[in-house]
Amino acid sequence: TVKTRFAPSPTGFLHVGGARTALYSWLYARHQQGEFVLRIEDTDLERSTQEAIDAILEGMNWLGLSWDEGPYYQTKRFDRYNQLIDQLLEEGKAYKCYCSKERLEGLREQQMAAGEKPRYDGTCRHGSRDHADDAPHVIRFKNPTEGSVVFDDHVRGRIEFANDQLDDLIIRRTDGAPTYNFCVVVDDWDMEITHVVRGEDHINNTPRQINIYQALGAPVPEFAHVSMILGDDGAKLSKRHGAVSVMQYRDDGYLPQALLNYLVRLGWSHGDQEIFSLDEMISLFSLDAISKSASAFNTDKLLWLNQHYIKTLPAEEVAGHLEWHMHDQGIDFSRGPALAEVIGLYAERCNTLKELAAQSRYLYEDFSEFEAGAAKKHLRPVAAEPLALARTRLAELADWQPAAIHEVVNAVAAELELGMGKVGMPLRVAVTGIGQSPAIDGVMALLGKDKVLARIDMALA
Ligand code: GLU
Repeated sequence: TVKTRFAPSPTGFLHVGGARTALYSWLYARHQQGEFVLRIEDTDLERSTQEAIDAILEGMNWLGLSWDEGPYYQTKRFDRYNQLIDQLLEEGKAYKCYCSKERLEGLREQQMAAGEKPRYDGTCRHGSRDHADDAPHVIRFKNPTEGSVVFDDHVRGRIEFANDQLDDLIIRRTDGAPTYNFCVVVDDWDMEITHVVRGEDHINNTPRQINIYQALGAPVPEFAHVSMILGDDGAKLSKRHGAVSVMQYRDDGYLPQALLNYLVRLGWSHGDQEIFSLDEMISLFSLDAISKSASAFNTDKLLWLNQHYIKTLPAEEVAGHLEWHMHDQGIDFSRGPALAEVIGLYAERCNTLKELAAQSRYLYEDFSEFEAGAAKKHLRPVAAEPLALARTRLAELADWQPAAIHEVVNAVAAELELGMGKVGMPLRVAVTGIGQSPAIDGVMALLGKDKVLARIDMALA
């Protein structure tokens, strides 16, 4: 069975590039009815933090990318890595290297000066120098010196690296810590990963890792190296292009469904279909349809998708996410209209849930002042008559529904021989405090009669 994984290094928040890689890996596992593993690659003790781990888990949970195994932590598996390094040493597939930092730096400078790619020259591979066994040393992997490493990447096709271009990788540092490229191989082997989906920045690691698999006698998984995401200026997507953290998108009022739909299309396609439910993504996804070229992040399109999902997802589901924004903006929504109804009324007008929460605040909170500009334009002094009459008629209204409220507003306008706006706008400012809202009959229906009358009284006072 297929088993994939997402293996982030916890050195920062979950960014959209990582989330897309995770999504592709997750989708492939789900598509194949396989399993998905989450592994935290925290071997870099200096740069890994608990905050980053929490942020990654939070991002994965918010996106709904559930894992079947894990999270595993590399720092808990050092014994296993070291056991295998010792085994390679015994088998003569790895060796102790006593070369000093100074020597390596000198070598590097020489090679750079000669226009060569810096690489270890293999001095200790041949055991040419004498050392006390416990003198400070690293362990290096004996990379094959001949032939080449070939693999068929699901995204990039056939890739070949000549072994004489690869040097002997350090697999254990002087302080005894196993290194990244080695740990990845051991983990993917032990966790029985069949397909490695990761960023193209790892493509140069892949041939080295394949050689290690072979030395360990482990099966080599298949690979899919995903291209990077660019900003609108063609440079690699980064903070200066705007939000890059998944949780920032939550904070800004996006739905996870919108972000997932956006990310799946960013580098993968199925004809020219733009909208994919999660089930559709799962049934249609394939690694081979991932695009080779880099994709540019387009915030307008994401915003469009977000509005689409605010409008079309079941309101109850959107409400769960809106709740977060209500809390975030300090709006006590425990008394007042149900969030699902608010969404029904506002979905057309709002691109984000952050906006939706902000715009519906007056449904839950009373205010003591009307927005100055709106009040000046629509309330004072001209509107006293229509407001007063509307108040009387609304007070008499038993059927507190949008349609009936609409009729009252119409009737008041007709009676006073005023345009609809001359009644509707003063009412809008009176009951919302501001100059913009969805249809006023709908707003008044949600607010309830008591609040509407009280607010009209406040406007008339
Ligand atoms: N930990 C690596 C990273 O965050 C991923 C390695 C891999 O997927 O093989 O870039």
